[in-house]
Amino acid sequence: MPPVVSYGCWASTLKTKNSLHRRHSMIRLISHFAADNNNTPGRPSPTGPPPIQVSFTESAGRGVFATRRIGAGDLIHTAKPLVAHPSLALLHKVCYFCLRKLPTVHSSDALTHPLCSDQCIEQSKAFLEVEKRADWSPYNDYCRSQGLKYPLLVKRLACMIISGVASSDSLDVLQHAYLSPEMISEMEKEFCLLRHALLNGGIQDELMEFLTKEWYTGVLARIRINAFRIELVGGSYEDLLLLASASVEAEAAVGNAVYMLPSFYNHDCDPNVHIVWIGNVDARLKALRDIEAGEELRICYIDASMDHSARQELLFGGFGFRCNCLRCMSGD
Ligand SMILES: [Zn+2]
Ligand SMILES: [Zn+2]
Repeated sequence: MPPVVSYGCWASTLKTKNSLHRRHSMIRLISHFAADNNNTPGRPSPTGPPPIQVSFTESAGRGVFATRRIGAGDLIHTAKPLVAHPSLALLHKVCYFCLRKLPTVHSSDALTHPLCSDQCIEQSKAFLEVEKRADWSPYNDYCRSQGLKYPLLVKRLACMIISGVASSDSLDVLQHAYLSPEMISEMEKEFCLLRHALLNGGIQDELMEFLTKEWYTGVLARIRINAFRIELVGGSYEDLLLLASASVEAEAAVGNAVYMLPSFYNHDCDPNVHIVWIGNVDARLKALRDIEAGEELRICYIDASMDHSARQELLFGGFGFRCNCLRCMSGD
């Protein structure tokens, strides 16, 4: 097991009584990703599980490590989201499930919840049956007026849980942000709107037992530091291989999503891995340079082109840690 250096943003998370449970969850998770990887069209066929492992150390940090040499430009693994939601501004322009851009439709033909394929129809059926029972306009209007995007992920997760396709603890394994009492009280309104929408939609009380203020804030505290802003790259996987760099031109954000395994990657201002989205919300983790067996795989949580002080400020404010990566230590 490779050593874990101490500057991951997960350093404070693992010394908990739940860590054994978390490890077991993660073992299941890796198996899931191995299976997932065998099914993705349009890329080289994999020959087994992804060449990575999530490791724990005495210092209680966790990170993702290479189990063999990985070449620059290689696709390391793919990941499907635990939960995803399109941006409110693009509700009629992208698939309501996988965020794929849809062909332009005339406004009279626009659907409330457009879905791009039979697969997306099938996979969203259960949560949509719950969601469609409620009137979401007060909730969506509130999110729109306050510029909030993460409550939409909580709404979708709540509908998934009520419909039985997700469990109420499905994000528990993720690191959570510290929330001040002020931040928690600001969530009161949206929490009440969510509960009321579901209650008014006739959802039975017993199906909503999980939906407490504590659950709501706990989920948001995890989404805050684990959500990825989804920027789709046009073109094929083959086109992207030619680029093999972090500076791929991406289009504007189509939504937000939370993943399991990608959330275990620690940060580096000079990362060796990056995440790209080609066509839809499925994440692809690609090596930016040659990586040796045992080396930690890291992504950059922020815009790496910012200067040293701007990066430190954003990482501390947004993720709660000071970065000590080699680039930061060199003063760059
Ligand atoms: Zn779709
Ligand atoms: Zn750094």
